[in-house]
Amino acid sequence: MARSALDWIPGELDALAAKGLRRALETIAPVQGPVVEVAGRRLVNLCSNDYLGLAADPRLRRAASDAAEQEGAGAGASRLVAGDLPVHRALEARLAAWKGTQAALLFNSGYHANAGVPAALVGRDDAIFCDVLNHASIVDGCLLSRAELVRYRHRDVDELAGLLARTRARRKLVVTDAVFSMDGDAAPLRELAELCDRHGAMLYVDEAHSAGILGPTGAGLAEALGVSDRVDVHMGTLGKALGAFGAYVAGTQPLAELLVSRARTFVFTTALPPAACGAALAALDVVASEPARRAHVLALTERAKAGLARLGFDVASVVAPILPVVLGSEARALAASSALRERGWFVRAIRPPTVPRGTSRLRVALSAAHEEAQVDGFLAALAEVLPGLPP
Ligand code: PMP
Repeated sequence: MARSALDWIPGELDALAAKGLRRALETIAPVQGPVVEVAGRRLVNLCSNDYLGLAADPRLRRAASDAAEQEGAGAGASRLVAGDLPVHRALEARLAAWKGTQAALLFNSGYHANAGVPAALVGRDDAIFCDVLNHASIVDGCLLSRAELVRYRHRDVDELAGLLARTRARRKLVVTDAVFSMDGDAAPLRELAELCDRHGAMLYVDEAHSAGILGPTGAGLAEALGVSDRVDVHMGTLGKALGAFGAYVAGTQPLAELLVSRARTFVFTTALPPAACGAALAALDVVASEPARRAHVLALTERAKAGLARLGFDVASVVAPILPVVLGSEARALAASSALRERGWFVRAIRPPTVPRGTSRLRVALSAAHEEAQVDGFLAALAEVLPGLPP
């Protein structure tokens, strides 16, 4: 066979597999939902972010196809060139109204938003203060900004206070997940807002796992804690609780205008397809008209927390439908995932670098489409599986 410059890859894959870190895709069928078919078997799905059970909702599907019918399958260009469509504007207006901000700007995904927004706000003379457990997309965006990246211990406002007091940076940006993606716990937003006020820092909050779930109107953790007007940059996603795809940054009009000119992940990419925006608009209607959905998924979360605490797991600080079942080694998490699958439960193992070494886990995610009996059934299956796991 001819020499290939990619000959090194199979060895790399074997090395990943030997460490329990090789990943593989698994197709679910026929649609996202509380029960899915994986490799021909029906399994209860406990690992999607479709927290409100909207991804396959007929109203969203219809809104998506209507939007495609009216405005096309693709946007055809970036927003700034010839891809700025009425549905983008309508969705931005709805998002700004929901968040209580002057403006909102769409991004093509949460990853795009977090990868591109920090660099629009800070640069070489500046510093970003970042919770160590912030999502990977935030870390990537911080690195791209070329600002000094200062990480503080998880939710440790005392450490952050000291770091902010000592910094000589020109601009300061504090960035945090609202609800942490792998632990389900909440950032201390009130204390962070205090610190930012005191030190003249900007506060950037990623509500990927709280928008649609927390707060009186489901606007997120900042709303729940009554600090919405103290957050400078409200980032959130449309592909999780909202069941669609895409993301937004909400804030002041000048902020939105700056991002239009300066966020490279906004400027240099084709605009979101109309279908995604139509679906997100329909999801915002459901969030407004069916608060029982978030109440139900939060009640299921409390039920799961109680059961997991009885099994000895530390879930006391969980505030959203993400339950970390921390098992330690990659081998343990993988064994738990496959034993549960044999019993009809789909919950994949989460390993480094998604979580810190030694904290591999099952990340159990619940949806408003789940029922109490499914939570109870899962807890019983987990209790059965735990004694047989490798050390
Ligand atoms: N932020 C957080 C906290 C996330 O968990 C995720 C996705 N897992 C993202 C951003 C990225 O969002 P998206 O999936 O829309 O790219």
